[in-house]
Amino acid sequence: MRAWAVVENGKPLQEIELPTPEPKGTEVLLETTHCGVCHSDLHIWEGYYDIGGGQRMSMRDRGMVLPLAMGHEIVGRVVKLGPEAVGVTVGDLRIVYPWVGCGHCAACTSDEDNMCLNPRSLGVYQNGGYGTHVVAPHPRHLINPGTLDPAVAATYACSGITVFSAIRKVMPIAPEEAIVLVGAGGLGLNAIAILKALNHRNIIIVDVSAEKRDAALKAGATKAVDGSGEDVAKRIMEAAGGPVLAVIDLVNGTATARFSFGALRKGGKLVQVGLFGGELMLPLPIMAMRALTVQGSYVGTVKDLRELVALAQAGDLQPLPVTTIAQSRADEALMRLRDGKVTGRIVLRAEAA
Ligand SMILES: [Zn+2]
Ligand SMILES: [Zn+2]
Repeated sequence: MRAWAVVENGKPLQEIELPTPEPKGTEVLLETTHCGVCHSDLHIWEGYYDIGGGQRMSMRDRGMVLPLAMGHEIVGRVVKLGPEAVGVTVGDLRIVYPWVGCGHCAACTSDEDNMCLNPRSLGVYQNGGYGTHVVAPHPRHLINPGTLDPAVAATYACSGITVFSAIRKVMPIAPEEAIVLVGAGGLGLNAIAILKALNHRNIIIVDVSAEKRDAALKAGATKAVDGSGEDVAKRIMEAAGGPVLAVIDLVNGTATARFSFGALRKGGKLVQVGLFGGELMLPLPIMAMRALTVQGSYVGTVKDLRELVALAQAGDLQPLPVTTIAQSRADEALMRLRDGKVTGRIVLRAEAA
């Protein structure tokens, strides 16, 4: 197999040859057809996350091994089944759930693999969709995209379930009640589409880019707030007609966390999703007196992915704008994302697809 791999952190991806894996046990080998380029790929490529206070969380310390074919928004065609794999057939097109774990703990066996304490995520700790082939550990990680555009369906595996899972954490909430989304990139546009599919009617988007705010309004956001400069919390509250019950921070850096927290009303919840980096000081008496919640949310479960795909198949979910580019140009795609030149999502398309 070929892969466009991280050979050295922060250096251009290199095209390399790797042995094509032989599926064992319940494993399923797929030929990648599509793979989304996610913002977290940039962190994996750099090799660390900024966790605030000048601290870095190293991906190598967490078990990442180079060379690595990144890519965790994968759609592929089944090419070979391990001796114990059942439920799929050679030729089937499937979305690959990438947030896999050890495979036998309570989290993994209840389809909540993303909460496993020993993550083995595809594209992070094992090769992912920046290669021509990928191994799914178990057929239950494979979801049929049906008639969905596979380039769009690929994005549900990370971008889609990440926002779906975060939205679930602020639900139930009345459809007229404001839900604030911070960040109008791929995640923000996906969140708008999902909220609309769930019949939510009051969506406020916050972004520093006028172009991205426009894209969000076109996608169905009710109002847009400029996220730059001072007084962002005040502008959010003005747009919402008062402090808000729910903010989903898809950027989650020091500045966005601060204004998101500042816009909350009594009983409000801030769900932190982005991995931008930084820290948030919490005024403890206010946390208690206003009964506030700050909750992290990391990707989503296999169940989230199944439900999201069902929602999309029902026809209510507006597909987010995707741009496809040849898989062999993975490095260029990654650099475009780094330079902030992407509205929606870039999806790598394999030559064979
Ligand atoms: Zn991702
Ligand atoms: Zn596990």
